Amino acid sequence: MRALAKTERASGLSLVEVPKPTPGPGEVLVRVEAASICGTDLHIYKWDAWAQGRIRPPLITGHEFSGVVEAVGPGVRRPQVGDHVSLESHVVCHTCPACRVGNAHVCLNTEILGVDRDGGFAEYVVVPAENAWVNPKELPFEVGAILEPFGNAVHTVFAGSGVSGRSVLITGAGPIGLMATLVARASGAGPILVTDVNPYRLDFARRLGADRVINPLEEDPVAVAREMTGGGVEVLLEFSGNERAIHQGLSALLPGGEARILGIPSDPIRFDLAGELVMRGVTLFGIAGRRLWRTWIEGTALVYSGRVDLTPLITHRLPMSRYQEAFELLASGRAVKVILDPKA
Ligand code: NAD
Ligand code: ZN
Ligand code: ZN
Repeated sequence: MRALAKTERASGLSLVEVPKPTPGPGEVLVRVEAASICGTDLHIYKWDAWAQGRIRPPLITGHEFSGVVEAVGPGVRRPQVGDHVSLESHVVCHTCPACRVGNAHVCLNTEILGVDRDGGFAEYVVVPAENAWVNPKELPFEVGAILEPFGNAVHTVFAGSGVSGRSVLITGAGPIGLMATLVARASGAGPILVTDVNPYRLDFARRLGADRVINPLEEDPVAVAREMTGGGVEVLLEFSGNERAIHQGLSALLPGGEARILGIPSDPIRFDLAGELVMRGVTLFGIAGRRLWRTWIEGTALVYSGRVDLTPLITHRLPMSRYQEAFELLASGRAVKVILDPKA
């Protein structure tokens, strides 16, 4: 089978021919129908400091994908052959103390598909049966492929006290920030303010239902947020990983508000703990992955019912053989979700 792999400790990826894997006990073989590129894949492609510390080649990349169950290993009852599935990318142990208290999304032994073990930029992939989430057959594969990052957005928006009836500031209108805009809108948040430094993405946020978009290079998001809400937003949803945006987001919060942070800064950042958090009574949530499996239940309820339509976020579709073009497109910032067809 064909796969897109990191074969050496260097930048770039290679299209390789490798044997089709066989599912062992408790595993399933998935024929991949659509895969999507994530910012993490770009880090692996560029071979930055994070990738150098984490990735052990040879590795088949890709953790956002969907497909059809082609075979099941011994002992697997669900899913069944022929089921259409999306994949949860975190493989968890179910036995560590975090798993045992119901926090498997922060399992101490987490392995991520396409990062720590072979992923879905391939014609076929073997995964633990429980990682395959069964979708209705009418759901387009390309939408199925982006349910994993969508789950990041759902987890962030629904954490803490949610967003219903609350003013919200979304920092960073990348794919996940844009998905959060859709979820916030569908969940009765208002007003919804969105910041980004990229005009192409701000335009997307406006079309997807943001009440106000702000380019921090042109105006002050804190002043706009305070003016629109009479004091500050109740909820900050952080998806930029940008230090400046994080400080601006915290300043734009109404005292007593909630900051939910999913964005990952490339370097450690400094906080004025007392001034930004303690004395303003802010509750801060670190948001990792998706809650297993509550986030999948909540997210798919929004998508299957049509309350959230993810199709406008899919801006490009390319055969996997044109992966270099696809990665460059995403890196340019003039794309949201780029879908690869592993068969082409
Ligand atoms: P992305 O890089 O495409 O989006 C980030 C956006 O932030 C970009 O559109 C960028 O223009 C914008 N931005 C940069 N500087 C800004 C500023 N000063 N103010 C406002 N916006 C600014 O990433 P994504 O795929 O949407 O993911 C969002 C973030 O979440 C990334 O940091 C990613 O690493 C992180 N992430 C975390 C988890 C987790 O489990 N915690 C999972 C997936 C992704
Ligand atoms: Zn990802
Ligand atoms: Zn565990």
